[in-house]
Amino acid sequence: MLRVAVVGSGPSGCYTAQSLVQQDSEVCVDVLDRLPCPYGLVRYGVAPDHEKIKSLQNNLRAVLEHDRIRFLGGVQVGPGGVPVARLRELYHAVVYCVGAATDRHLGVPG
Ligand SMILES: Cc1cc2nc3c(=O)[nH]c(=O)nc-3n(C[C@H](O)[C@H](O)[C@H](O)COP(=O)(O)OP(=O)(O)OC[C@H]3O[C@@H](n4cnc5c(N)ncnc54)[C@H](O)[C@@H]3O)c2cc1C
Repeated sequence: MLRVAVVGSGPSGCYTAQSLVQQDSEVCVDVLDRLPCPYGLVRYGVAPDHEKIKSLQNNLRAVLEHDRIRFLGGVQVGPGGVPVARLRELYHAVVYCVGAATDRHLGVPG
């Protein structure tokens, strides 16, 4: 079995995990997230009245319920959490799907 860690359980992390298990029946994926619950900004950012986008969570849930995919919440990777070097010891590959936690300033006044 090839063991892969996907860091981040937002849309990009879930779709990465889905793609990996679909392409190879010998792959097992752990999806890690620093938050206790999955789906990233679809859960925490998109407003409840955006029903169509919110419903995407149903697709993501189906991914995380796959036999060869596990969701591990409350796992911070990097400073203050599991060191990156430790992840490399535990898994054959690590994929980072951590989104954008802060704004990227353009440096344009005003
Ligand atoms: C307020 C708001 C409203 C939005 N509304 C819409 C909308 O109406 N329609 C639309 O299409 N898009 C909307 N978006 C955008 C959409 O939410 C994002 O495009 C999408 O969630 C990005 O997916 P992602 O997987 O790249 O990142 P994210 O969804 O950000 O997921 C990244 C995950 O990585 C985890 N993570 C980060 N760092 C670490 C770490 N060190 N260790 C472990 N885990 C970590 C985070 O906890 C998070 O769960 C909205 C975004 C916001 C903020």
